[in-house]
Amino acid sequence: MDKWPVGVFASIDAGLGVKLEVVRELGIKSVQLHTPSKQSRTAENAARFLKKLKDDDITVSVVFLGFEGESYETIKITAETVGLVPEKTRAARLAESKEISDFARLLGVNAIGSHIGFVPHDRASRQYQEVLAVIQELCDYLKSNGQRLHLETGQEKTSDLLRFIHDVKRDNIFINFDPANLILYGMGEPLESLKEVGHLVRSVHCKDATMTRGVPGVDWGCEVPFGQGEVDAPAFLKTLKEVGYEGPLTIEREIPQEQERQMAEIGQALRLINQIKASL
Ligand code: MG
Repeated sequence: MDKWPVGVFASIDAGLGVKLEVVRELGIKSVQLHTPSKQSRTAENAARFLKKLKDDDITVSVVFLGFEGESYETIKITAETVGLVPEKTRAARLAESKEISDFARLLGVNAIGSHIGFVPHDRASRQYQEVLAVIQELCDYLKSNGQRLHLETGQEKTSDLLRFIHDVKRDNIFINFDPANLILYGMGEPLESLKEVGHLVRSVHCKDATMTRGVPGVDWGCEVPFGQGEVDAPAFLKTLKEVGYEGPLTIEREIPQEQERQMAEIGQALRLINQIKASL
């Protein structure tokens, strides 16, 4: 694999990512895939989708978990609804995560990405211990499918994420580093955070954002096109180089409701990344 293939966050059916037609049109060869809906996750669909990917010479680097009922409307609602942390849906979502892992295996994908949710802070709490046990069980299941788990950054400080990963005690748990999320959730300066966790980063999102003008950690920052926010795109790639990261640079632009704008801005990000790559 070439160093730093540029990728994009994509979806088979409805989801946060761009459609495969858009990926093809942009000439992009690497994608992270948002979990297809339950009814799409059949062996037949996997075979059909694999053929499409092969025809266009596209590789899926990571399949990202996604569940019905998740909402990113506010930070508070995100904490209540996203990932494997919320208690009400935890058991059902763990079971579904295993099904998604099996589907990803049919696609030949060896990494599952996840916003597991806001990791509880108190290590002695019952909640922390229960979330830990769930992630250990998931890691063990993924391992049986030859897969790694990549935890998305942003919903806690990277120091807390590191401590959690340490406590999980599994050799197939890593990080999907999203610099914009740290700004959006008000959880730390992205490049310093990247240096801190660089040894565990196995996939990244090229996404950008500006800090909230309200209360960090309570009010959302604003997601903006890559290169136009506070991440400092050239410094981000330079830091990735310093920490020895050579995997895909996956562009994420979460405006699925505005498809034309989404495609134009991903095209701009692609050109910017290629420019920076050439200069490093
Ligand atoms: Mg992300």
